[in-house]
Parts: sequence; C-alpha cells; structure tokens
Amino acid sequence: MRRVAVLGATGSIGTSALDVIARHPQRLRACVLAAGSNAAALVELCRRHRPDHAVIADESAFATLREGLREAGLATQAHCGEAALEQLVGDEACDTVVAAIVGAAGLPSTLAAARAGKRILLANKESLVLAGELLMRAAHEGGATIVPVDSEHNAIFQCLPDAHAHAGLRRILLTASGGPFRGRRRDELGAVTPEQAVAHPKWSMGPKISVDSATLMNKGLEVIEAHHLFGVGGDRVQVLVHPQSLVHSLVEFVDGSTLAQLGLPDMRTALAVGFGWPERIESGVSGLDMLSHGRLDFEAPDLDAFPCLRLAFEALSAGGTAPAVLNAANEVAVSAFLQRRIGFLAIPALVEDALAALPSTPATSLAALRDADAQARRHAARAVAACA
Ligand code: NAD
Ligand code: MG
Repeated sequence: MRRVAVLGATGSIGTSALDVIARHPQRLRACVLAAGSNAAALVELCRRHRPDHAVIADESAFATLREGLREAGLATQAHCGEAALEQLVGDEACDTVVAAIVGAAGLPSTLAAARAGKRILLANKESLVLAGELLMRAAHEGGATIVPVDSEHNAIFQCLPDAHAHAGLRRILLTASGGPFRGRRRDELGAVTPEQAVAHPKWSMGPKISVDSATLMNKGLEVIEAHHLFGVGGDRVQVLVHPQSLVHSLVEFVDGSTLAQLGLPDMRTALAVGFGWPERIESGVSGLDMLSHGRLDFEAPDLDAFPCLRLAFEALSAGGTAPAVLNAANEVAVSAFLQRRIGFLAIPALVEDALAALPSTPATSLAALRDADAQARRHAARAVAACA
C-alpha cells in the first residue's frame, strides 16, 4: 500500500491525483492532503478521502479547517504552515508525495520529500526551474525517486526508462499545444483578456499554468525542467508545436530511432504512471482512437509572438540565478495579468526587464537562489506598479 501525500490537493493536478487514488483502494491511500487557503474545499476532500492529516498553508484559514474537520466527525488532524507541511512530508506519514503546489511556494515541501527519500510525482516544475541542481542532488543523496508527471516529461520518462537509454540519447523533442493564441501575430495579442488566456484548447488546468501556456512560458519552464531531469542542454531540446496534444513528447537516439508517447490529454495517465511505475495501473483514461483523430501536425513555435520561450532558453544558457529570476518575475507578471493590472504583452516585457536588471550570478546555495527569487519579485512588482 502506497501512503500518499497530495500537496495542492484542491487544485487541478491534486483533483486528478485523488481520482486515480480512489480507483485503487487496495494499493493507494491518501494519508496527507495539503492546500493553500481554501479550508472549506480541503474539509470536503477530507470527508471523501479520510486522510490522517490535513495541512493548510494560510494560517488565517486554520480555524476553519479545524472546526470543519471536527463538525464532520473526522479523525483527520489539522495542521497549518510551511514547517508543518515539510515535517509531514519528511516523516513516516507518507512514502509517496504528489508535488502539485503551484509556483516557487512548492519548493520547500518538494525538497523535504527529496531529502527524505520519498517517491515524488513531480508536477511542480517551478521548483526545478528555481533550484534544479539542488533538488536533483537532494533526491540523489536522499534516495528519492522522481517520476515527472508534467505530461511531456512523463512521456520522456516512459521513453527513457533506464540510465542505459540516456547514453544513446541524441535530443529531446518537446511538444507544445501552442495555447489559445496559436497562430496569432504579436500585434494581435496586446488586448487579449485573462478569460481568453485561461481558456486552453486542450487541457483543463489551474490559472497560472494556463496563462503560462498562452505565453509559451510554460514550454520555456519545461525546457529547463527537461535539462534537470534528463541532463540535456538547451541545444539538445527542440520545441514542436503540436496542436492536437496527443503526442506528449519524443526522444531521438543516436541510431536514428525516435520514440514517442501518445495518449489523450488527461493528466491522470501521467499520475497513474507515477503511482504504479514500473507497473501499469488503471487511470480512468481511455485509449487513443487513431482513426477518429486522423492526423498529427507539427510546426515551429513563433518566438516573435511568444518571446517567453526565447527568454527561458536564454536563462537556461546563462545558468546560475537566471532561471530563478525568470521564474519569479514570471510569477509576479502572471498574477498581475490575472488581476488585470498589466496587459498580456507586459508579461514577457517584465521578465526580460528583470533578467536584464539582475544579471546571473552563480547559484551556489539555496540562500543565493532564494535571494535572487526575492530580488526578482521586488523588481517585477515595481515594474507592475509603474505600468498601472
Ligand atoms: P491549481 O492552481 O489548480 O492548484 C494549485 C494548488 O496549490 C491548490 O491546491 C492550492 O491550494 C495549492 N497551493 C497554492 N499555494 C500553496 C501553498 N503556499 N502551500 C500549499 N498549497 C498551496 O494548479 P495546477 O494546475 O494543479 O498546477 C499545480 C502545479 O502542477 C503547477 O506547478 C503546474 O505548473 C503543474 N502542472 C500542472 C498541470 C495541469 O494539468 N494542471 C500539468 C503539468 C504541470
Ligand atoms: Mg506540460
């Protein structure tokens, strides 16, 4: 029996993870559920999944969580704050962690799971962008197994199941849906709204990653994620826009073979791979009917309309603190866009400005990365205020 902690339980990935867990009562149990601030939604999940522990990050929501659990007559223990979450993730409350908190806020708990040697189903790509070397080293030293559940990296993981395969790997072909604005020119993007940006054509996801998909920053973060997970430089990653979102990524070997993983765009497949690996378990997702889909198209990304992808490649090649700055400035810009304080094209502009203002320095420690993250947030917040 896997004892699972679902971090970001109330979110899109968290909901899909709990759906897969509920299909396997003999094999998977949700023991820890954690969320940011929605205590009522967390109590509802506790009613259904009866975990041992529930953690809310926001301390002002703790009383609602505790009272809600009591009124529901549940034995689930209520906790709050980052330290409580790190402790539970690191101790015997769980052996498997679904890291699905959004943004850099997911780093401390993901690191705690890595140090404690857990199986990590990693959705929180921002933690790898911010501190990829440290996180991979912590996982190695702690004996943790990282199974990427970002669909592209999960596809690559399935195509590269062991270290022998890595030796003959030539390059990675990372697919992108292109987002809701695929095919538009830069001058057609100035007035797009948050509602249009989060209306993803193929995937149903949380608001932050949906905006990242619309700017192609999501693909940029994923290039950096692939670098850390699979040890390839940016020069060995090609991004392909594939509007059908059925081929989740491909790997090319030195012998000319290219392997791909295909499936419907539903994150439960990747999560089931993470829970079951190396076995295969039911996810609730049906197979692909190739005849009904008919065709698979691929095109080059438009870096003029979507400069965030270029900025991410540049940050990866600059190394050091640059990816942390990219990620932090992007989080601030996306949040400001969702609040209608800045326009869509200001997102890449703010990120580019932060990267130029805060040149990369060596990322020698977690403290140095956190400092770069904080500086980039302050810089971007000032830029947002200047836009308003
Ligand atoms: P979401 O907005 O739907 O959910 C985010 C979750 O994180 C919520 O449960 C929220 O309560 C929780 N949270 C936020 N701040 C927190 C904090 N400080 N402490 C504890 N919990 C906190 O987001 P999502 O779409 O589920 O994405 C989650 C992560 O997975 C992101 O890093 C995203 O890039 C990645 N991801 C998502 C998808 C997808 O299909 N949704 C695909 C690939 C990768
Ligand atoms: Mg992805």
